[in-house]
Amino acid sequence: MKTTKNIFIILMSVILCASLTGCVQQTEGETDSVSNTDSLVQEVETDDSEADSDEIYEGVVLDCRVELSGDPKETFVAEQDCYTDSDQVVIFFQKGVKVSGDMLKVTEEIMSDLCRQSGLNFKKNYNYETFNVIGMYFENTELPSVDPANRKIHILIVDPNEELCNWAFEGGIVVSADSYDFNETRYQVLYHELSHVIHTRNGTCLTSLMNEGYAVFMSYHTMRANGIPSEETHQYFSSPEYPSGRFDDSIIQNGEEAFMIPYGKRVDIYHYGFRLITFLDDVYGEDTFEKILKEATDRGFDEGYSDENEKEDIRQDQLEMIEIIKSQTSDDVFEEFAEWYELNWDKLYEDYLDYMEKTNQ
Ligand SMILES: [Zn+2]
Repeated sequence: MKTTKNIFIILMSVILCASLTGCVQQTEGETDSVSNTDSLVQEVETDDSEADSDEIYEGVVLDCRVELSGDPKETFVAEQDCYTDSDQVVIFFQKGVKVSGDMLKVTEEIMSDLCRQSGLNFKKNYNYETFNVIGMYFENTELPSVDPANRKIHILIVDPNEELCNWAFEGGIVVSADSYDFNETRYQVLYHELSHVIHTRNGTCLTSLMNEGYAVFMSYHTMRANGIPSEETHQYFSSPEYPSGRFDDSIIQNGEEAFMIPYGKRVDIYHYGFRLITFLDDVYGEDTFEKILKEATDRGFDEGYSDENEKEDIRQDQLEMIEIIKSQTSDDVFEEFAEWYELNWDKLYEDYLDYMEKTNQ
């Protein structure tokens, strides 16, 4: 029987992730490095019922609420743990973080870019259980009482002195302040992590491979649609310049067997996932991910696993996900993927390089 993941798993997930600044994750059994990746936490325990929280906390405004100038040239330095908010977003700042005055606007623009590209929205369309991540990063403050039902998207900007991994949870993201430095990062981390959030605001988690594949795909195409170069995507085309992005793509020819990548093989999960989502979008239409998400959510697909039986639970989830993908496409979908890959991937890589050349000028 599956059990719900607990806080320990969430903390493990934080350790397993990696940020643009070069945090490298270690996994059990196998070690692999991935740049600029993260983890997505699925199920969490909670004891607050949403209705209660709404009733008690709606409209709470704390003394530590701050107003940002909105000016990209101005810098805001958090002198204490504090927050700011708009209709859609709450941004929490740990003491000491330094950000530009327009970051609320930047966040909303990225969210609206992702809505346009994905056809989804950030409303809480899926009733996952809320878990107060805020309390993990802001102990001994009242900040967890701001929007505890997670109606808005929560952005946590964490102490620059802490070694931080960027990661996403159902209600928001935890990132370093430099994720908001456009010249340094092109907002890549924000596009990636918020892709996870828009996914999970609309349905259940779909196995690491599908979750990460979607985030890599969606961040790439959203940045591209906005004329922003996405350097991070380069590694996922397994080009020779990116040995860290190594991926033995011949496994795709093994059909659905290749989908059964063990959790520890993080690099393969991102690479294979990106290719599979790209194929599904290209051949079965851009709403295919959404259809798979809906089917999985309707079926009550539950990506939980117990600590004792982790490998077998993950295997069962993968087998179930294969069936869900087939149900929304065709029984031969993995053979079609193998064929499509041989014919199309090199062309898509060239096309990516063209776009990079144009946008980098
Ligand atoms: Zn991710």
